[in-house]
Amino acid sequence: MIETLNRKMKTLQLENLVRENIQNLTAYSSARDEFKGTADIFLDANENPYGTLNRYPDPHQVQIKEQLAELKKVGTDQIFIGNGSDEVIDLAFRIFCEPGVDKALTFSPTYGMYDVSANINNIELIKQPLINDFQINLNQLQPYLDDPSVKIIFVCSPNNPTGNTFNTEDIEYILENFDGIVIIDEAYIDFSKQASFTTKINQYQNLIVSQTFSKAWGLAGVRVGAAYSNSKIIDVYNRVKPPYNVSVLNQEAVLNSLANLEEVQQNITQILTERERLKELLATLKMVNKIYPTDANFLLVQVDNADETYEYLIEKKVIIRNRNKLVNNCIRITVGTPEENEKLIEALQLISKS
Ligand SMILES: *Cc1c(COP(=O)(O)O)cnc(C)c1O
Repeated sequence: MIETLNRKMKTLQLENLVRENIQNLTAYSSARDEFKGTADIFLDANENPYGTLNRYPDPHQVQIKEQLAELKKVGTDQIFIGNGSDEVIDLAFRIFCEPGVDKALTFSPTYGMYDVSANINNIELIKQPLINDFQINLNQLQPYLDDPSVKIIFVCSPNNPTGNTFNTEDIEYILENFDGIVIIDEAYIDFSKQASFTTKINQYQNLIVSQTFSKAWGLAGVRVGAAYSNSKIIDVYNRVKPPYNVSVLNQEAVLNSLANLEEVQQNITQILTERERLKELLATLKMVNKIYPTDANFLLVQVDNADETYEYLIEKKVIIRNRNKLVNNCIRITVGTPEENEKLIEALQLISKS
């Protein structure tokens, strides 16, 4: 009886999480919303009758959602398609956080975009340091789980720039014990052996899983990301987003990739093979002190002097990411082609000797 009551309260709170102005929002109704059928002549959207890209894109990205629904085993009403996953992050602040009042939380070091997006939206972002090989400190987190002004927790898993996935039980603890929204950013999930949380969107009402076509799918230039959640949250996302947020060209590029899943998978396999080879080669260098375990397409590497290594590689026309400010003397190396990785190692071998 008490359990039923608690669960009901939780449902109620979830609806209260959406800002009042958003709850009462009337979404823009496009020409394509008002007439959805097929016809011969469309004179309803002030489009130019000439050209090949003269028509507005499908505002609901139906074709992409149908394919993704099958691939991810979710409903089409449980998918939001965004202009990169950056849009998924930005809309989360706009939907759930009252500017200047509410807060969000993430774990540091992590992806810098949560902070930028929080600042743009005038939301304080609490950064809880990760501990013991970059895992979540649940004890320290507890007071924030109980703080009603914290509306969103961002969990980046596999985490950028550390590369590791967080313990599944820790993420589930947060989902079960936090009454706000939990966004699991799975930008790198296709490189990981860990199961995606997309299978749990029916189990946890406060869960949003964010994925992207930018990394494993090789479409960073296209700018398409996806969020998976229950249909109530997805409905709010769809009402808040700009109506035509994903262009015709972007939708075509994604559909093309979805029609060539084997090629996508081959690329992932190749990158994972190269990642292991790169790890072995880096381990032979004297300047390398530690290579952190990774579930992503990059390696976090501790070297003798990250600033010097970074500057030196620039001279050799090889650009890596200096993460010294986030993790002491660490650089982040994205796995490239075999030739690119070879060039990187050759350059590093030269300074490793001197
Ligand atoms: C690269 C990356 C993304 C991708 O963002 P897009 O806007 O989809 O390109 C998202 N989250 C993390 C943690 C990333 O590292």
